[in-house]
Amino acid sequence: MELIVRCKSFFSLLNTIVFSVMVVSYFAMIHISITYFMVANIAILWLGNGIATALFLVCSVKRKVPLILGLIVGYFLAIYSHRGGFDSSEFGFLIANVLSVTLAMSLFKRLCKETITLIDLRQNILFLTVLCILTSIINVSIGSVSLWVISGITPNVNNLLIWLVGNTVSIFASTLTAFHIFNAIKHKKLSLQMSKHQAIELVIMCATTAVLLVEVFGREHYNKFTISLIFLLFPLAMWVALRFNRYITSVWITTVFLTCAFYSTAKLGPFIFMFNDLSNAIFYMQIYIFTACSTALVIATVNTEKEKKNQMIAQLNKQLDNLTKVDPLTQIANRRKYDDSIKEALAKSNSEGTLLTLVAIDIDYFKLFNDEYGHLMGDECLISVANAINKNLLRTNDIVARVGGEEFFCILPNTDAIAAKDIMQKIQSSISELNIPHQASPIEPYLTVSMGACTKTSKDNIDAMRLYQLADTALYAAKEQGRNTFVIADYTNLSA
Ligand code: GH3
Ligand code: MG
Ligand code: MG
Repeated sequence: MELIVRCKSFFSLLNTIVFSVMVVSYFAMIHISITYFMVANIAILWLGNGIATALFLVCSVKRKVPLILGLIVGYFLAIYSHRGGFDSSEFGFLIANVLSVTLAMSLFKRLCKETITLIDLRQNILFLTVLCILTSIINVSIGSVSLWVISGITPNVNNLLIWLVGNTVSIFASTLTAFHIFNAIKHKKLSLQMSKHQAIELVIMCATTAVLLVEVFGREHYNKFTISLIFLLFPLAMWVALRFNRYITSVWITTVFLTCAFYSTAKLGPFIFMFNDLSNAIFYMQIYIFTACSTALVIATVNTEKEKKNQMIAQLNKQLDNLTKVDPLTQIANRRKYDDSIKEALAKSNSEGTLLTLVAIDIDYFKLFNDEYGHLMGDECLISVANAINKNLLRTNDIVARVGGEEFFCILPNTDAIAAKDIMQKIQSSISELNIPHQASPIEPYLTVSMGACTKTSKDNIDAMRLYQLADTALYAAKEQGRNTFVIADYTNLSA
């Protein structure tokens, strides 16, 4: 029974997808490695392990079994389709591949601790040392021992070196890009946000890289001048790393690696010209490309870290700025925010020719309230009044600010006097619904407010100060009329 449950959970949809993706991608990468990068019976770029590393990185530890099974199936399918059968040495290679990827991966995941993004410097150093270099050392050691035990073959030093470098660079060449693509699919974030200028620059950079790769690495004959062009790869690496994000840098690294390895296997390129021996040429070509590309990776990573820090500083500054604009007691906008907002609202009203209403609100007999109930109760009351006003301002651009002790101002863009009257009535009833006792008040046994409003029409050209004065004068008139009421300023001829 338990076995059936276990089997069912193993054949879950996610496990099946993970297994199938591993089979298909491992098969495809080995197929490419054998077809395009084969030199003297050794595939110089063993891309399968690179893609497997990326899949192990993206998937959780729980998916280890479908991943390993997928790797085994993909491996046998690829070998069978090329050779039409297996010899015992294949088992040695397979053991080496499975163990190197899983051992390095568990060490990497243990050392990483935080979520794997392959973006910060620490993770990238671990990527280079543990995943690229250590995996290859494990692979070559286990591979050569198992080859020797299973098939009695002892590889020579030259082959071991190519095997080692080939594994290191193939993980470096394919894992980064594959990881970012798989990760983007997993988190459904595939978009490449860039400006028009960046897109043009990207096209120019890609074209330059393509010309360099084809013209410099794809040649058969060289002279002093053309051979010196290989150094152009370094400024190109700097360009991509400094100007573009880590994802584009990874794709660039993969493309450069694959193209150079492809040309070199086809006996083209400056390294073949410089070294008569093919295996030597490929060895040095890989070391050279690895140096250029790892430089780009380090620069891109440092750059990303710097950008992340700048973003954090900008965010903190924004938070700090917001804090200086909030009234600590009521948590609504303060005088500073009011001053900024009214200027912005006035400018918008002037440029768009829209109406703008300013409402001044003042609690009635608040001094007496404090005297009767104490300052602490007074503070509580201010919070309740602020909330009651706020809940009646429904538009996103409406703002209420506490501009003085018990005085509030509402900025209401696109609002005429009739709409403002409606809002003031609602505020008034919200405050009476609060039913805050105010026994000392000469007018009502509960807390009340007085309000004054002034509407600026599109024709009025008045400043923030004048609008404030007019709303305040209307408020004063409401106080004069006996409080717990509102007055709307006569808005004809405001500028006078
Ligand atoms: P009026 O109806 O004319 O507005 O009378 P009032 O008593 O409300 O007006 P007045 O300007 O004389 O008094 C305002 C009072 O508001 C004085 C002060 O004790 C109180 N006040 C100002 N800021 C705060 C505050 O932050 N907390 C508390 N609890 N009271 C405050
Ligand atoms: Mg008052
Ligand atoms: Mg007052």
